[in-house]
Amino acid sequence: MTARLKLAVQKKGRLAEGGFDLLRRAGVKLAYARDELTRRAENLPLDLMLIRDDDIPNFVASGACEFGIVGENVLKEAAARSPRIAGLETVMALGFAKCALKLAAPKDGPVRALADLQGRAVATTYPGLTEAFLSARGITAEIVEMGGSVEVAPRMNIADAICDLVSTGATLEANGLTAFETVLESEAVLVRAPGARAPEIEETAALLSERFTGVIASRQTKYIMLNAPTARLDEIRAALPGADAPTVAPVVGRDDVVAVHAVCTEEVFWHTLEALKAAGARSILVLPIEKMMP
Ligand code: ATP
Ligand code: ZN
Repeated sequence: MTARLKLAVQKKGRLAEGGFDLLRRAGVKLAYARDELTRRAENLPLDLMLIRDDDIPNFVASGACEFGIVGENVLKEAAARSPRIAGLETVMALGFAKCALKLAAPKDGPVRALADLQGRAVATTYPGLTEAFLSARGITAEIVEMGGSVEVAPRMNIADAICDLVSTGATLEANGLTAFETVLESEAVLVRAPGARAPEIEETAALLSERFTGVIASRQTKYIMLNAPTARLDEIRAALPGADAPTVAPVVGRDDVVAVHAVCTEEVFWHTLEALKAAGARSILVLPIEKMMP
């Protein structure tokens, strides 16, 4: 019997969404659920273990799973408390579940900057990361550990500031809080315990990492088509993110305009399109690329 690679994935939540999507794009076909804890891949020697994200670092560090998909925030918080988890190896960043751990305080309160935290109380579900960040900067603050709903702590006079995960900032805004410092930028990562493994597992691991790399590359790669005023072509080329050799073609009946087609290897944001438009580009189309082979 060939050894099957065990990959720990969040059972339900933001990491699960991104993780299952990544596996699907990497061509992993999952069999129907056999039980609550595991999902078997039909076309690869791979089994998923579905658990809470907070348990993933431990499952990998203990050898129950060879690999795991977890947020850097959860990984680093666990590593701050356990040397065994600190020894886990990050294979690659996966480009989803992006968020940041930030310090925030009431908008009109006395805490405006890091130095204002001296001698005050900070509420957080990330005591390890918060403590390490503050003490590295010479700040002594009381860490109030909470299980959740950290954003209510200042209003309830439990703490003067909070250290919490932020993505859009809407929760902070709704609670009258303003972020003033970033403790950690986080995204989902693929982790593994260091050490040798059965050759079959290494083979599956190599195949998965290679496919994941391809999925991540094609995810942010886009095909852009636009019409550009011939006179401003250089400006427009400069505004195309990560496009080395765009195709420039004539537009029938127009000698002041050319068509530009390019593969952009960097993310195309709305502000990219606005910059292109400001440079005179018109009829801008951005298309996803499904698969790529160099
Ligand atoms: P459980 O512990 O039951 O697995 P959870 O409540 O910790 O679930 P989620 O809210 O799904 O899980 O968050 C999982 C991870 O997703 C977080 O640890 C973080 O890495 C990332 N994350 C959290 N909030 C956001 C967000 N707003 N946008 C993007 N990623 C986020
Ligand atoms: Zn969790």
